[in-house]
Amino acid sequence: MSPLAIVTGASSGIGEATARRLSKEGFSLLLLARRFERLESLGLPNTLCRSIDVRDHEAVAIAVREAESVFGPTELLVNNAGLMQLGAVADQKRQEWQDMFDVNVVALLNACQTVLPGMTARRRGTIVNIGSIAGRNVYGNHTAYCGTKFAVHAISESLRKEVAADGVRIVVVAPGLVETELLDHTSSEDIKAGYRDYKASVGGAIPPEDVAEAIHWAYSLPPRTCIREIVLAPTTQD
Ligand code: NDP
Repeated sequence: MSPLAIVTGASSGIGEATARRLSKEGFSLLLLARRFERLESLGLPNTLCRSIDVRDHEAVAIAVREAESVFGPTELLVNNAGLMQLGAVADQKRQEWQDMFDVNVVALLNACQTVLPGMTARRRGTIVNIGSIAGRNVYGNHTAYCGTKFAVHAISESLRKEVAADGVRIVVVAPGLVETELLDHTSSEDIKAGYRDYKASVGGAIPPEDVAEAIHWAYSLPPRTCIREIVLAPTTQD
């Protein structure tokens, strides 16, 4: 049977490209996001699509159990679902940073906990957490978002130490500018315009397919080798 990969946030951008890439490699898939019609429209074979808010830990766990009963144990989890709502701390709505921490950090931890017992029991499995260049560097109006992504990097490195001896790989893929819908959720039009100007000034963003390629490459090395972190960005980004 083809191995099972779970991709969170597969309804657009990096998650969508990753789902397509992994499907091409013969994975069975569990795709999670809130926009069910976008998941379904991918039309990928051997795929379960579930309309789930990743903040609902129990719903994620039920979907994982369902997928594993159909396709077998989880071989790969790509924790990709994420939210970026840029703003200055002095005037940003508190709900925005609450949502970012809930989706980018807490839901990622929950998803790891859901699959880890099976992976450690089998002494096999890979978790790819999508960090960011904003998980290594800080930028104006990115304070809460950077906080979530620095957390993803710290959590991933710490978790790797917890499960390394069990044969489970934890990988962080940290992109720079990628052409997706990520900016749409920022409420300030000024900040959005500034972000677009920055993107234009560095010659544009890379397509999500390039990130999907890196995710698959990290997975494809033999299980004895763990790529701990990949940082990839437009060549012309500073
Ligand atoms: P998109 O906005 O295109 O994709 C985000 C995905 O996350 C969507 O599929 C969305 O699905 C899903 N998502 C968001 N909130 C939830 C939720 N509560 N429950 C379930 N799914 C959710 O952006 P990207 O593809 O760019 O983002 C993917 C990841 O890449 C994020 O973690 C982001 O931080 C990271 N990243 C992106 C960069 C970029 O420049 N684009 C750079 C560095 C990192 P739906 O709305 O249907 O629920």
